[in-house]
Amino acid sequence: MNRTDSPVDLARPEIRALQAYSSARMEARGGALLLNANESPWPPFDNAAGWNRYPDPQPAALLDRLAELYGVDATQLLIGRGSDEGIDLLMRAFCAAGRDAIMVSPPTFGMYAVCARVQGADVVEAPLREDGSLDVDALLARVTPAVKLVFVCAPNNPSGAGVPRTAILRLAGALAGRALLVVDEAYVEFVEPGGDGGSVADCVGAVPNLVVLRTLSKAWALAGVRVGMLLADARVVALLRKLTPPYPVPAPCAEAALRAVSRAGERAMRERVAVTIHERARLRAALAGLACVREVLPSQANFLAVRFHDAEAALDALLASGIVVRDVRRYPSLGDALRLTLGAPAENDRVLQVLRACVEQPA
Ligand SMILES: *Cc1c(COP(=O)(O)O)cnc(C)c1O
Repeated sequence: MNRTDSPVDLARPEIRALQAYSSARMEARGGALLLNANESPWPPFDNAAGWNRYPDPQPAALLDRLAELYGVDATQLLIGRGSDEGIDLLMRAFCAAGRDAIMVSPPTFGMYAVCARVQGADVVEAPLREDGSLDVDALLARVTPAVKLVFVCAPNNPSGAGVPRTAILRLAGALAGRALLVVDEAYVEFVEPGGDGGSVADCVGAVPNLVVLRTLSKAWALAGVRVGMLLADARVVALLRKLTPPYPVPAPCAEAALRAVSRAGERAMRERVAVTIHERARLRAALAGLACVREVLPSQANFLAVRFHDAEAALDALLASGIVVRDVRRYPSLGDALRLTLGAPAENDRVLQVLRACVEQPA
């Protein structure tokens, strides 16, 4: 294997050599009268102060607060349009078309493979174990020199399974100098307190090839605002910044994000998450008792993967009542499963009501 010291040595040489675009905002250097970016001197309407100006490429107040939240340095954090942007940037920086590859463990989030294919990178698969757990040794056995990024979704979407920190850190250690380990923690806020599937964000930097993706789209209730974060060694963040568009975080989105992650916002988030964790246990037990349900997979996320005796009938019954769930039957080992996002308690009651009736009138 081609072992190297800096995680950036694994990136495409042309990206390492790239001279980044220098935007007007970056060159402003704190001047008071800004006549360098061809902006309008007037805001477009009331309550839009500052929106006539190009935004800070990485809004400083938001960056500092997120760094505090995740326990990393601001230089180890990149804010973008959802974690989807982080996935795409990694792909473009580390995978040369027709040469490099990524590794995934199906059944898992589909965006990794889609992004890889758009980039022309190969997708190597190392399936999860029968019980849905990550098979670190099987994964390591399949890593080829072409693999530059290994994606682990923790907790996993669409199964909901948590991934122990020990497994993630062992994998990162074994991949050192060969590939980056990208841990997608989109659902980590929903992990049972005291469980062993907690965030590895505290290891960013100390483990140079570890990248963690976080998002405001799930527990923080901000899916419509499109803010996600990539946490990594400062050298990786600096490299990826060269690839981002000049102003990746719109000003209204930065303002909304800052409100959501304030101390009061954080308390509200914890309360919402506590309700969801409670609902997860309640719904799992109730669903497991229904005749139409074969199995409810254990979940550390804000959804349940439910295997049905007749998933089609369950899907139809739910749809007939106006309830839309995710059909995940296309995923390996989930051929009879639907993914149900946990809603508010009354919404979850409606799901139970429909599925109870579904038993009485089998399709
Ligand atoms: C929802 C989700 C995300 C979040 O994506 P955003 O672009 O931040 O909204 C990331 N990863 C997984 C696995 C998800 O399910």
